[in-house]
Amino acid sequence: LIELDRAHLVHPVASYRTHETLGVRVLASASGATLTDATGKQLIDGFAGLWCVNAGYGHDSIVEAAAKQMRELPYATGYFGLGSEPAIRLAAELADRAPGDLNHVYFTLGGSDAVDSTVRFIRYYWNARGKPNKDQFISIEQGYHGSSTVGAGLTALPAFHAGFGLPFDWQHKIPSHYAYRNPAGTDPQAIIAASVAALKQKIEQLGAERIAAFYAEPIQGSGGVLVPPKGWMKAMREVCRTFDILFVADEVITGFGRTGPLFACSEEEIVPDLLTVAKGLTSGYVPMGALFMSEHVYQTIAEAAGASAVGHGYTYSAHPVSAAVGLEVLRLYETGLLENGRRAGARLMAGLESLRDHPLVGDVRGRGMLAAVELVVDKERKTPLPAAADPARRIFDRAWHNGLIIRAFASGVLGYAPPLCCTDSDIDAIIERTRQTLDETLA
Ligand code: PMP
Repeated sequence: LIELDRAHLVHPVASYRTHETLGVRVLASASGATLTDATGKQLIDGFAGLWCVNAGYGHDSIVEAAAKQMRELPYATGYFGLGSEPAIRLAAELADRAPGDLNHVYFTLGGSDAVDSTVRFIRYYWNARGKPNKDQFISIEQGYHGSSTVGAGLTALPAFHAGFGLPFDWQHKIPSHYAYRNPAGTDPQAIIAASVAALKQKIEQLGAERIAAFYAEPIQGSGGVLVPPKGWMKAMREVCRTFDILFVADEVITGFGRTGPLFACSEEEIVPDLLTVAKGLTSGYVPMGALFMSEHVYQTIAEAAGASAVGHGYTYSAHPVSAAVGLEVLRLYETGLLENGRRAGARLMAGLESLRDHPLVGDVRGRGMLAAVELVVDKERKTPLPAAADPARRIFDRAWHNGLIIRAFASGVLGYAPPLCCTDSDIDAIIERTRQTLDETLA
């Protein structure tokens, strides 16, 4: 398998050197929060795949829901105005639970195309309101909004930009709220004030009459699990309201129990104009993403479109099998998984906090089942691990050896996003194996 993988399967995010020297690991099966590789080695999945298998592995009821739908009707296209029962029901169930009046759901295949779709619908919205000049978009440094070309421009990763003329000249960034390394200091109110000032400054610079939308993650995931202070989302949302700018909450990671509730925006007590989800929506069993539009956004676009459809669509949008899985996953969240995730999340955070005494641990942050430990070589100066030593790869390998999969970011940040089904002993093993891995890294 490894030979065939090397010969034929492209892993674009792994460098070819890494691929050559360290090889490929083949996963064979999984149950609960535990993965088994092709050699029989068992590992705790501390990252739920790629922050997506929120329900955990091995749910027969999900498999049955998919098989039943495949047998009855594997495909239906919305293009000809055709629908399927699971897609309609899932849209209705989600709208029922989404914050405020986010009542209109458009299904995609994942997070990147959900974000791309927001850009398209937002342009249609401003055109419909007779403001076609509102065509500038703002997002945040350390933010991640996908790897499609439009999404990659909103994403703040230079590696995703080089050679593609990205970000586009209509895509702008403001600094992150990153508390551990914020020039405004660590005081929550000062961090909020600095972000508000940065957004207002950008608005002034570009002109409010030109700005279409602002994108924020309730917690910046791929940027290193950066948790804004309580009230930050609300303050940014208010700035957008004041200047007639649409506020988009990207909940691709934070949605579906990752931080506790189904939507992190509910905890923040805000209602965005648009909201994107993916990952936990189908818990990784099949691909699916979605965006929600508020009544006002949807009705404005729909009224302007009249009898004609707006130009947008994917072959696999609102896929019946994905929708059937989504419905079953939602049922599981609400019959114990969310509750278990909240309990396990408290244990995870307490366990990670207990690592603060370790010489390498500079910061511990997170909420619920979404957390990070930032490693430093000097706690006082917050000196990052030397990048030349490729700490991420080394730590990932050590953790793997110790029976744990975590995300090791190049910056020396360890990311945690275990399945919500974790038992107490799963969480305790994650903490113990992390400590062991850190001790070995120090040695
Ligand atoms: N938005 C956010 C906040 C994400 O974290 C991600 C993926 N990590 C995406 C969008 C893109 O989702 P996908 O990889 O499913 O295209």
